[in-house]
Amino acid sequence: MTHPHQDPHRHPHPQRTYWLEHAWLDTHVEPGVALDVEDGRIAAVRTGIDAPPPGAEILRGLTLPGLANAHSHAFHRALRGTVQVGSGTFWTWREVMYSFADKLTPDSYHALARAVYAEMALAGITAVGEFHYVHHAPGGTPYADPNAMGEALVEAAADAGIRITLLDTAYLSAGILDKRGGQTPNRHQLRFSDGTADAWAERCSVLKERDHARIGAAIHSVRAVPAGQLATVARWAEERRAPLHVHLSEQTAENDACQAAHGCTPTRLLADHGVLGPRTTGVHNTHLTAEDIALLGGSGTGTCMCPTTERDLADGIGPAVALQRAGSPLSLGSDSHAVIDLLEEARAMELNERLRTRTRGHWTAAALLRAASADGHAALGWDDAGTLEAGALADFTTIALDSVRTAGPVPRLGAETAVFAASAADVRHTVVAGRHVVRDGAHTLVPEVPQALAAAVEALRG
Ligand SMILES: [Zn+2]
Repeated sequence: MTHPHQDPHRHPHPQRTYWLEHAWLDTHVEPGVALDVEDGRIAAVRTGIDAPPPGAEILRGLTLPGLANAHSHAFHRALRGTVQVGSGTFWTWREVMYSFADKLTPDSYHALARAVYAEMALAGITAVGEFHYVHHAPGGTPYADPNAMGEALVEAAADAGIRITLLDTAYLSAGILDKRGGQTPNRHQLRFSDGTADAWAERCSVLKERDHARIGAAIHSVRAVPAGQLATVARWAEERRAPLHVHLSEQTAENDACQAAHGCTPTRLLADHGVLGPRTTGVHNTHLTAEDIALLGGSGTGTCMCPTTERDLADGIGPAVALQRAGSPLSLGSDSHAVIDLLEEARAMELNERLRTRTRGHWTAAALLRAASADGHAALGWDDAGTLEAGALADFTTIALDSVRTAGPVPRLGAETAVFAASAADVRHTVVAGRHVVRDGAHTLVPEVPQALAAAVEALRG
């Protein structure tokens, strides 16, 4: 008799067993683990399996839960290298970024995002939070399908074999004008704006979730959504129990403008308009007061740190230790994609703190991996991913322990080795929903990822 789960027509994700040479089981490295996968989920975790069972897929190295990249702007990948010439600040960097945003179309964005998400899969990332704000054609005219750009990103994630939470972003104004409103968007920002939060809500309400795609909301920042319209976005997310993300106090200029117009910090403004809460994540949370930290922690609002971008843009170092202690769960994102390497993000958070305090060991490797996996997934609305346990989504990634970077330490220290010495180049396998998306360092769905990246970036440069 044929097992019903072996019929590919009945079940898109057939039953399969993966044998893990070493597995990270949240607290320790376990040698010899079999993961039975059924319908895209882990059906059983069997320990003490010294040799691969017949027919099992063999994953040599240390298998971790899939990594979650909780903050991405896919098109920023086109800036890599280009923005490392000369000097400046976040604000001068932003001008270069706008010149690329001006050129995106649904087709060119699809091609770029497919390649960027393939790069993510090669880095062990199984879910991305795409903070998406390039909604309309240049000048602000909606496309025939007003969600053509968002749909291009959702499709790109499917093509690259990873999950996406499309954080559809309200971006309505160029900056804070006064207590009542915002400044008119500049010519670059016309593409980002729906005019009002109500129009934003109407457009996003049409977006549909799929097996690999969740729909969430974002407030670009208190600069880009006037105070009187913050609650509209918060309510939209609340009604759908969807994740809500917001760039928060990345720059002191944002704090100054908010103080001048509203007499309070951006965090206080968000709190007063119902934006904070356990489904909300503040991205960066860099320049905060003690009261801000208490508001974020006390409301269970998450913090997404993007250390490689924050250091690249000379933003500063956010108070991640104090935020976590106050009750804010931590996640990690590669944001502007100066590099795409969640292991680097994890160690950068710890190493930044070491430089600032001149003491070591603010987080264990286990805690850093939790931020990069389970807590990152939760921030994106994938509560059932990011752990290797029965019932969880079958999303995981394997780090080589025999590369030039990782050889030497005993396997028991695999988590420390992965976080503090490995890089994205050490990712050997990535499995999403039980499907082998990266095998032996090669993407199984996008054949030539570097060429795809080069062609997509070249098309925008031309
Ligand atoms: Zn960002």
